[in-house]
Amino acid sequence: MSPGDSAGPRVLLRRLRQVMAAGGPVQSRLDDVTHTIARDMATDVCSVYLTRAGEVLELFSTHGLNPNAVHATRLRLGEGIVGDIAAHARPLNLRDAPSHPRFVFRPETGEDPYHSLLGVPILWSRRVVGVLVVQNRAQRVYTEDEVEALQTIAMVLAELVGSGELVPASELQEADGNVTLPQRMEGTSLSDGLGRGIAVLHEPPVEVHQLIAEDPLHEVERLDRALAELGEALDGMLAGTGASLEGENRAILETYRMLSQDRGWLSRIREAIERGLTADAAVQRVQMDHRARMASAPDAYLRERLHDLEDLSNRLLRHLSGQPTTAAAKRLPDNAIVIARNMGPAELLDYDRGKLQAVLLEEGSPNAHVTIVARALGIPMVGRLTGVLDRILAGDSIIVDGRQGLAYLRPGEDVFQSYEENVLALKQRRVEYAAQRDLPAETTDGRRIDLHMNAGLLLDLPRLKETGAEGIGLFRTELQFMVQPSFPGVHVQRDLYARVLDEAGDAPVLFRTLDIGGDKVLPYAESGAEPEENPAMGWRALRVGLDRPALLRTQLRALLLAASGRKLQVMFPMVAEVAEFRAARRLLDMELNRLASRHIDPPRDLRVGVMLEVPSLIWQLRGILSLVDFVSIGSNDLMQFLYASDRSNPRLADRYDTLSPGFINLLRSIVLQCEEAGVSLSLCGEMAGRPLEAMALIGLGLRTLSLPPSAIGPVKLMIRSVKFGTLKGYIETLYDLSDHSLRDKLRNFARDHGFII
Ligand code: PEP
Ligand code: MG
Repeated sequence: MSPGDSAGPRVLLRRLRQVMAAGGPVQSRLDDVTHTIARDMATDVCSVYLTRAGEVLELFSTHGLNPNAVHATRLRLGEGIVGDIAAHARPLNLRDAPSHPRFVFRPETGEDPYHSLLGVPILWSRRVVGVLVVQNRAQRVYTEDEVEALQTIAMVLAELVGSGELVPASELQEADGNVTLPQRMEGTSLSDGLGRGIAVLHEPPVEVHQLIAEDPLHEVERLDRALAELGEALDGMLAGTGASLEGENRAILETYRMLSQDRGWLSRIREAIERGLTADAAVQRVQMDHRARMASAPDAYLRERLHDLEDLSNRLLRHLSGQPTTAAAKRLPDNAIVIARNMGPAELLDYDRGKLQAVLLEEGSPNAHVTIVARALGIPMVGRLTGVLDRILAGDSIIVDGRQGLAYLRPGEDVFQSYEENVLALKQRRVEYAAQRDLPAETTDGRRIDLHMNAGLLLDLPRLKETGAEGIGLFRTELQFMVQPSFPGVHVQRDLYARVLDEAGDAPVLFRTLDIGGDKVLPYAESGAEPEENPAMGWRALRVGLDRPALLRTQLRALLLAASGRKLQVMFPMVAEVAEFRAARRLLDMELNRLASRHIDPPRDLRVGVMLEVPSLIWQLRGILSLVDFVSIGSNDLMQFLYASDRSNPRLADRYDTLSPGFINLLRSIVLQCEEAGVSLSLCGEMAGRPLEAMALIGLGLRTLSLPPSAIGPVKLMIRSVKFGTLKGYIETLYDLSDHSLRDKLRNFARDHGFII
C-alpha cells in the first residue's frame, strides 16, 4: 500500500471483511487476516496479541515470526513494547525497536532481524483487548497514513475479538487496567438510601455494527445529514427551556455547538470515511483517539474538552444510527444503577421504577426537581461525581450510599460486606421508624408537630400509610402531567384527583395547581417551546395558569369534580402579588358557579391557600393573609430567589445555606405574622425533610411540615427526642448573628442535648 493512495486502505478493508466473513475456524480466519495485512502493507511481520485474563498479552497469530511462538509467547501488561502499547492504549512507531528501552527479546519468536515496528492497541468497548503489530527488517519510520490505516484495521479486528470467539467474553471484561480497579467516589448526597447493581449509562454509547462502507459517497452524505441534525438539535436545546439549560449546561451546549463545527474533528472523520469506514465507524474511530488522549491528557481543562468531544461524538452517532437517546427506552437489567451527566425530572420518570436501584450524576443539585422526584420515588441518588462517566463502564458493579453521597465502583469483597451491614442497619432504622409510625410527632415537652408528606404520583400514595404521615402537604400535580404523552383532559384529571382522595381516605390532601415551566417541561406544552433566558424566573406556574385561564380552569374544574361532597384544599404556586392570587381565586369562583349551575355538589369543605416562594409576597403578607385559608412556604424557590442563587446549578449547590441567619430570620418573621393573623402555616420545601433543618424550623415556631416520605421517619425520631423549650431558647440566641451559616452551631447544640439528628 503506498502512502497517499486513498483507495489502498479501502481495498485492504474490503479484503479483510471477506476474510473475516468467510466461514471456517476462527484461528485460520485470524491467520488469514495477518497474512493479508502483511502482504498489503508490504511488511515482513504482522502479529496479533490478545489480552488474556490476569493482564497477560498472548501472541494469537503471526505472519513472519516463528509460528511455534503462537499461543506460547506471553507478555505481561506493560512488559516489552507490545505490553507498553497495551498499557498506555496508544500507538508506537519505532524506527529501531531493539534500541527502545522497553524492548525485550523473545528468542522463541525469532524476531531478531526486525528493526522497525509499528504497533497499535486493539480497543473494544473502551478496553484494550489486544495489540496489532507490523514489523520490517529495514530501519524505517511508518508514515502517518500507515499508522492511521493500522488503527482502522485494529478497529475492524476488535469486532472479531469482541465477538468472544477468540477469547471468552468473561476474560474481556477484565481486560482494562484503567477502569477495572475498585474506586470509591465521594459526591453530594441528593437522595437517601442504599443501592447495589449494574451500571447503565443514561445515554448509552451507540453500537456500530457495520464498519466497512459499501459506498463512501453515501457515507459522506449520511455524515452531512447527521451533522445538520445534530446542529439543529443543539440549537433547539439552546433555544428551549428545561433542565438542560440551567447553569453549567448552557455552557456545555455552547461548547458542543462550537466543537461540532471544529474543522480538525470533521476532517479526521471524513478522512476515516475515505479510508473505507462507514460514517458511524469513522466517528467512532476518531473517538477512540480522543479517548487515548483523554487518558493521558495532563491538564484538567484539556481532559474536560476531550470529554465534551466524546459526548458530542455519542450524540452524532445517535443521529447517524437513529438509536434511542436514553437507556430508559432500552431493556434494563433488574438492578440498574443509572449514570448520567445530568437529567431532567421527566427523564427520570421514564425509567422503570421496579428496576432502577440508584442514580449517579456528574452534576446534580439538592433542590433540582430531578432530585425531588428521586426522593419522592425513594431512589438513592448521588450527585457531583465529577469524572464518574470516565471511570465506569456499562455493566460494572456499583454500590451507592445515598445518605453519605458515596459511590463504590467495582467494589471489593470488603465493601460488599460493609454494604450488607449498612443494609441491615438501614433495615433496623426502618423498623425503628415503623415502630413510631403511630406515635405522635411530639417533643418531649409536649409540642405537637404535624408531619405531612410531599407527593405527586399515584405510586407515592401507599407511602402515606407506610410512613404514618398525617396527610399530603404538597401534591405536585405537574408530576402526573409529566408522565402523560399529551395534556390530560378534564375527565382524566378528575379521575386522577379522585383516586388520590380515595387512597388518602380521611387524610387531608393539599393540591398545588400546575407548576410547569422552569425545569419542569411538558414536551407537549406551549411553555416548553418559547426560548427563555431565565426559565426559573420565567413563564411558569401560576403565570402560565393566569395567561392561559382555560388550562387552569380545566384543572380547577377537575379538582372540584373529584372533591364533590368532600374536603378540598388547593394552593397556587409562584404568587408574586396579591392581585395574582385574587385573579386565580376568581377563576376558582367561576368554576364553583359553573358547578352550582349544573347542580353538582361543591366540596364539603374548601380551603384555598398560597405558596410563599416569591420574596415580593413577604412584603404583602397582610394583604394576602386576609384572603387565604393557609400559607405554605416553598423554601426551595424562596431560597433561590432570595439569594439570587439558581437551585439547579450544581456550582451553587453549597454556596448559601438555608440555615443562615438571613433565611432563618425571614422564616421567623413569616411565622410571627401568620400567628398574628391566625392563618395556618406550613413549610413544604426540601429543607423540611432534613432532621437538622427541621429541628431549626420547629425551634422558630413552625408546627406543620411537609416532607418527602422517606424523611418522615428520621424527622419524627428527631422531634420525639427534642425538648422544644430548650430548642426555642437556643434558636433565639441565633437571630442576631451574622455567620455565613448556623449549621455547625445547631449541630453541636443538638449533639450536646442528645437530640437525634
Ligand atoms: C418549593 O419551591 O419549595 C416547592 C415546594 O415547590 P417546588 O420544589 O415544586 O418548586
Ligand atoms: Mg416551588
